[in-house]
Amino acid sequence: AEEEAVFLSRTAESRRVRAASSDVLPGGVASNWQDAPPGAVWVSHGTGSRLVDVDGTSYVDLHGGFGVGLAGHAHPAIVEAVSDRVRRGTHFAQPTGDAVVVARELARRFGLPLWRFGNSGTESTMDAVHLMRAVTGRMKIIKVEGTYHGHHDSVQVSVYPDPVLSGPAERPYSVPVGRAVPPALAQLTLVVPFGDLEPVERLLVENPGEIAGMIIEPIMMNIGLISPPDGYLAGLKRLLHRHGAYLAFDEVKTGLAVSPGGATQWSGVVPDLICLAKALAGGIPCGAIGGVPELMNRIADGTYEQVGTFNGNPLTMAAARAMLLDVLDDGAYRHFERLRRVMSDGAEEVMHRYGLPGHVRSYGAKGAVVFNDRPLRDYRDFVLYPDQWGNAHWLYQHNGGVFLPPWGKCEQWTVSVQHSEADVRRFVGNLERMASSLR
Ligand code: PLP
Repeated sequence: AEEEAVFLSRTAESRRVRAASSDVLPGGVASNWQDAPPGAVWVSHGTGSRLVDVDGTSYVDLHGGFGVGLAGHAHPAIVEAVSDRVRRGTHFAQPTGDAVVVARELARRFGLPLWRFGNSGTESTMDAVHLMRAVTGRMKIIKVEGTYHGHHDSVQVSVYPDPVLSGPAERPYSVPVGRAVPPALAQLTLVVPFGDLEPVERLLVENPGEIAGMIIEPIMMNIGLISPPDGYLAGLKRLLHRHGAYLAFDEVKTGLAVSPGGATQWSGVVPDLICLAKALAGGIPCGAIGGVPELMNRIADGTYEQVGTFNGNPLTMAAARAMLLDVLDDGAYRHFERLRRVMSDGAEEVMHRYGLPGHVRSYGAKGAVVFNDRPLRDYRDFVLYPDQWGNAHWLYQHNGGVFLPPWGKCEQWTVSVQHSEADVRRFVGNLERMASSLR
């Protein structure tokens, strides 16, 4: 209660601005998840590893704008690339040279030769699903229970369903999210638990010639952070191909963050399609889809119309070029690894020393503290473990000057190339402050 009172007093101006804006912004925010508990924080500006809110408080930003922030704020390379492009015109709806440079670099990192662009993760996963359908002529897809792939209808299924109402764990129902997704459409999205090949094989056998492909987050990053069991991703690819279906990795969060070539490089399993977005253009909206020629050439021949007014937009491409070539060099990944160790080892040590139940999962620039002794295997595990300390942890971090994604157990931290060891030690220090005050 004390920490909550501190939070309320520190964020008074945010609440005032929000109240004053709800006559023009529904709910007083620009996106519903900006309103996640314990309330929207309105931001003034950001530089380096820090953001400053409208109350004038400066925070170490580990929210990273839901995982976008690998460059940190106002990174000189991004500022220069964007400023230069702005002076030369930002939109022609025609390709520019930067798009080729970006596509080549993505091909090099991810091992897939052909790339197209969009504006968000939602567009990337929508293109992946549409492309797999258009090429196979099959309308059903498979997704994993508890994964978020964006807000288009085909993947707005079983994202955070009530486990009691979602059928058996090994054969979950297809549950549409909210009231906007047509139930008939949701039935085309078949759902499996993460980490188990058997349910996938059963669906492929029970729906012969009907499944276009499967979309999956290769490391699950919207339910804390869950690693795939050994051999799972390679097994999926084999199974799907045996049944004439494709495998798409949603690397919107993992791509560029867990290694230079994302979870694809990390796992050594190259899927048929890769979806990117978030960090790709250093804070400018951008999405990308990469794939094997068998699929991507069907974009070129018009089998699937991959289109969009802003696709490959010059401003976006200039930022993505700077991000890939200047910001995310080898040194960036060594830096992420150093910070990851400080946070991960530090948090584990604190939890052990104070007897707090929990563990840390982390890869590259991303990680999460899970206040549960047992590692999580899938969505049901995630949703059913009691998150006794999560909300308190968020408040201790916030009041201790660390900005994290909204409370709840879904999200992870994101560090940037501009974060220092002192920045991330603050995170460990805040966790210790909580642990010692609970003792
Ligand atoms: N895929 C994953 C794994 C995501 O985490 C998100 C967003 O959080 C998306 C897709 C959708 O991306 P966007 O919000 O850019 O549409």
